Order: sequence, then C-alpha cells, then structure tokens
Amino acid sequence: MKPQSATAFDAELLARHDRPGPRYTSYPPATAFTPEFGPGHYLAAARDSNADPIPRPLSLYVHVPFCLSPCFYCGCTRIISRDPARSELYLDYLQREIELTAPLFDRDRRVLQLHFGGGTPNVLAPPLLARLMQHLQQHFRLQPGADVEAGMELDPRSCDAVYVETLADLGFNRISVGVQDFNPAVQAAVNRLQSLEQTRRVIDTARACGMQSVSVDLIYGLPRQTLEGFEQTLRDVIALAPDRIAIYGYAHLPQRFRAQRRIRTEDLPDTALRIALLGAAVRLLGAAGYEHIGLDHFARADDALVKAQQRGQLQRNFQGYSTHAACDLIGLGMSSISHIGASYSQNERELSAYYAALEAGRLPVARGLNMSPDDLIRADAIQQIMCHARLDIAAFEARHRLDFRSRFAGTLRQLAPLAQQGLVTLSPGQITVTPAGRFLLRVIALCFDNHTAPAAAAAVPLSRAI
Ligand code: SF4
Repeated sequence: MKPQSATAFDAELLARHDRPGPRYTSYPPATAFTPEFGPGHYLAAARDSNADPIPRPLSLYVHVPFCLSPCFYCGCTRIISRDPARSELYLDYLQREIELTAPLFDRDRRVLQLHFGGGTPNVLAPPLLARLMQHLQQHFRLQPGADVEAGMELDPRSCDAVYVETLADLGFNRISVGVQDFNPAVQAAVNRLQSLEQTRRVIDTARACGMQSVSVDLIYGLPRQTLEGFEQTLRDVIALAPDRIAIYGYAHLPQRFRAQRRIRTEDLPDTALRIALLGAAVRLLGAAGYEHIGLDHFARADDALVKAQQRGQLQRNFQGYSTHAACDLIGLGMSSISHIGASYSQNERELSAYYAALEAGRLPVARGLNMSPDDLIRADAIQQIMCHARLDIAAFEARHRLDFRSRFAGTLRQLAPLAQQGLVTLSPGQITVTPAGRFLLRVIALCFDNHTAPAAAAAVPLSRAI
C-alpha cells in the first residue's frame, strides 16, 4: 500500500461520515462478547491452540489498572489510587493468574510480544516490576532480547529517567508515551498537567538506553483545543522524533465514562474544528516524513510497521497496529482481553470480582465468544481493509472457498454509495480504499460487520469515526 499523502485529506468527506462505529481492534467487536463464554471455554481454546500442527507463538498483555489522578477524557478501565500497597496486592493476584494460565499453554511456545498497558503500568515500583518479570519468565518461555517486542505505556508525569533505565535493564525495548496535547489550557481542562521537559526526559532516556521504538499518543477533539495550539503540540512532538505517532479522536461519552462528566460540552471543538485538527496532523506529520499507516496511526518510513505493511504482514490488535502475525494473545490482569485461536475473552472488569475468581482458584474470565465460521471470514475481510486498505477478491475466494459476490452481496450494496462518494473503488477483482477513504477505514469496515448494524452503531455508545 502506498503511503498516504496529505493532499488526500478531504474535510467535507470526513464531516459527512462523522458517526459512531467500532474501532475494529477485534472482530467481532468487544460489544458482542457474552457472559455465556467462561473459563471452560478458555481452557478448551488453549488446549485446541496447543494441538495446532504449528502452534502459534504467544503475545502477553498485562493490564495494570492504577493511576495517580484522573484524566477527564479517559475511557480506560482504571482505578485512581496513590496507595502503593494496592499495586503490591494486585501483583499478588496477577501472579496467581499467571500460575493458573501459563500451564495451559505448551511450554515450548515462545513469547514474542509483551506489552504492559493500563491504567499507568509505571505505578509498579522497580522492585515490583522486577518481581513480575521474573514470575513471567519462570512460567512462560519468555527471554527478553532483540527479537522479543517488550513494551510499556508510560506516563511521564510519574516516570523518571531511572525508571526508564530499569525498564531497559529488564529487557524492555519499546515505550509508548501518552502526551495528548502540550497546550496548558487544554491540559487544565482535562486535568493532565505534563510538561514538554518531563516528556523529553523520558524519550531521551529511552533512546540513550538503546530502546528500539518510541511511540507517542496524541488526542484531537479535546476541550479548549485550538488549531494553533495543536499545531504547536505537533511541532513539539515532531522535534522529539518518535518512531510512531498515534492521533486518536476524543470520544465524548459522559453517560458511559464518569470522568468525562467533568468536561464542559461547550469547551469541545465542533466537527469542523475536529477535522481541521486532524488535517493539521496529517499535513505536519506528512511534511516531517511520517507515513500514514491507516486510521489514526503514523510512523517513520523506516519503522517496522511501515515495512510490515509493505510486506502485507500488518495486523490489527488491541494495541492498534502490530507487526506480529499469528500470535495467540494472552491477556493478564483485570479487564484484559485474550484472543486464543478463534476465541476472544475478557477478564472481570471489577477488581473485587477479579480477586474473588483467583481466590477461588478460577480463571477470572467473565465473558467472550467463540468466533463462528462467518465471523472468521468477516474478520479476515475487515483485517484486509483496516491493515492493507484493499481486498483482493480472487485471493479471498481461494482462502475461504466461497463466491465473494453472492456471499457479500449485502456488503457490496452498502459499499456502492461509498464508492460514489470516493471512499473506495470497486472493480471485479478488488476493493480498494482511496487515499481519502483511509481516514474512514472504520466506516468501510462497518459494511462487513455482521454484529454492529449501521443503525445500531448510532444508538450504542461507540466512538466517532473522526
Ligand atoms: S489517560 Fe491514562 S493516566 Fe490518565 S486516567 Fe486514563 S489511564 Fe490513567
């Protein structure tokens, strides 16, 4: 897929399609998970995954839910606490979960990816983190090294250079740094005061420690954002030279996320400004040599994501885009999501329920689903659109032994108006997303989604496409 050019940005088209939809970090989306899926189903999925002729390597996600203070825009599953004893207790339970989970997977299956997310994973003090890493290595075939992607999401407000050095010593080789916006007025409106200096210190230390990849998260659509202010943030971030930049659109869902009720609706940018903010990002990042991977992700031309996309090996998962195909994902910790074979499952989302399950010696799986044959086919189609912005119909038919036109007649009907509007081109052999359509991959993917009807998407609390 060719890199995105800034000229493909079509504000009018984006405004017309600014409506809710899933982010397709999974298909079916997490809204389709049900409580009928429990620990027994997880055990069966793990057993089946070991029986594959070529068992897939493993990817571990560890969720640390604690944060020191609430950012008002936040939609993550997190617990505000300044009590280090709570992290220590959590670690005890996490270790129990590791002890229950690891034996379900054959020991010769290597861990190729390790990601700590949250919450704020760096609330784990270095001795706790070292203890957890040791426990993971004791129970999984995990040997941190250059060929293992080991990353952590960092909050520079509570993370110093020594912490980053500790991460490097423990084998972490990538960090993801939350920034959102450097403008003081925006930071005050979202209760996240974070200086450029704090951020630079973390990133420079990671570089000095030889970390392979630094990524920065920004958000557009926050209260009190202005075009000038956001452009300055972009210039500041570009000067920090991260390898990857993710620019998420703020989803204001105060009925679902309590902290967002602290944001004044009148402070939010309107649709025109949201699109102008995104346009500024596309323009400035493009001029600085970043390529548009898709949706809200940008990366430097020499980054592994860009290369994976060029080789046709890019994947979409719960961390956004990934270079690792075909790993089974094991989620550890409260609310974490696993993707084992053709199953998705999510752990208990309340700390008390998560602890209670582990005290009873049970896996804390609360809900999930086994993908149907139809889900597997549609997931492949959505993956092609989200990662490669095209779907080769002949190759797809050969992979799934089906007649695309009859199987996806309804999808093609939904795509026809999008083709007229210039989001996709439809030819007998291929569906191709246009450069302008690459900002609306979610809208295009929705046409393949059998779980989220377009009308329903407007009724349930999903984030906006822009
Ligand atoms: S944005 Fe990050 S640091 Fe802020 S409350 Fe949410 S999880 Fe915590």
